[in-house]
Amino acid sequence: MRRFISITLALNLLLSLTACFGPPVDPDTVQESIQVIAMDTAMLISTYGKRSTAAAYASEDLIRDLEAQLSRTEEDSEVSRLNAADGRPTEVGPDLAALLTAAEEYRADTGGAFDITVAPVVSAWGFTEDSFRVPAQAELETLLEKVDGSAVRVERTAGGCTAALAPGQSADLGGIAKGYAADKLADLFREYEIPRAIATLGGNVLAWGDRPDGTAWRVGVQDPARPDEQNGFVGILNLKNSFAVTSGGYQRYFEEDGRTYHHIIDPATGYPADSDLTSVTVVAEVLPPDAEQLYGPGTMCDALSTALFVMGREQALNFWTSRKNAFDLVLVTKDGEIYVTGGIAEDFVFDEESGYAYPVLVK
Ligand code: AMP
Ligand code: MG
Repeated sequence: MRRFISITLALNLLLSLTACFGPPVDPDTVQESIQVIAMDTAMLISTYGKRSTAAAYASEDLIRDLEAQLSRTEEDSEVSRLNAADGRPTEVGPDLAALLTAAEEYRADTGGAFDITVAPVVSAWGFTEDSFRVPAQAELETLLEKVDGSAVRVERTAGGCTAALAPGQSADLGGIAKGYAADKLADLFREYEIPRAIATLGGNVLAWGDRPDGTAWRVGVQDPARPDEQNGFVGILNLKNSFAVTSGGYQRYFEEDGRTYHHIIDPATGYPADSDLTSVTVVAEVLPPDAEQLYGPGTMCDALSTALFVMGREQALNFWTSRKNAFDLVLVTKDGEIYVTGGIAEDFVFDEESGYAYPVLVK
């Protein structure tokens, strides 16, 4: 009996020793994943490393905090207060101040294709409250009179910042807020010394570092013709330390009288953009931290993916040619073509089974 006990003890000791001194676990491969339903989308954040759990929870807090400030449907949010102020200045925190500043930069840069003051038009089509309808032309014309992002003012005061729209205007940050959230996640991963992570915020992806085996993260570019197929890709982007943001009419739309109306509005017409593109993916590298910068490449990718979708193929490619070092593109056209710009030519792996023509390389 005693022998049996001592054998069991020895066995237990051995087991616990194996647990303590077993094959060493690489701290960089410890993983945590968290799903967050926020900003009208399902988000998935997977972090690696010793502080992966703390970073994942902090990521959720960050996103919820941003949503509480930026949501247009929550009455108490900073954006709702700004929209309700009918032109009077309201106090805004640093995040909303940064976003309004960024939105104006990209509005000016895209000739007005990106404009957050398109908000009342987005609402008239029912995209804000999921109550879809086709507004009358006269209604759209009245609403369009208020669309002009150049009227938005942001001012620094002794106590912080104020912002004001023109009377009757309102702002919708749905085309840029997730990209800003991705920029802030990059800052958070840096702060928590996260070696690698992948964050998918709707169509906004942050591929942080590389995969545990040292290879690039694989980010699928959805086939706009097969929006509901989980692996229905036109190709895969192999990315390290990059943002990739996709905009497309297939992401949100409704049908009426046999026509499809999507959620990306052309501020020039008030109608869903009559684009020859079905999706635009903008890719940019994560940049080193810069205390002077209020927003980063994630914000840029988000604003530009929306704007370039509105612009259409030709203008989008001209825009890229004039700014080619800042970002890269994958464009999918209604005609079944794919365009990939020079900087990611090697990183885009085309799916030959997808039925699309072989990608055109744009240099
Ligand atoms: P995204 O998915 O980033 O392309 O953004 C689309 C969302 O941005 C829409 O659901 C609207 O809330 C908003 N939006 C629509 N059209 C525009 C536009 N031309 N400029 C800025 N925001 C827009
Ligand atoms: Mg966008």
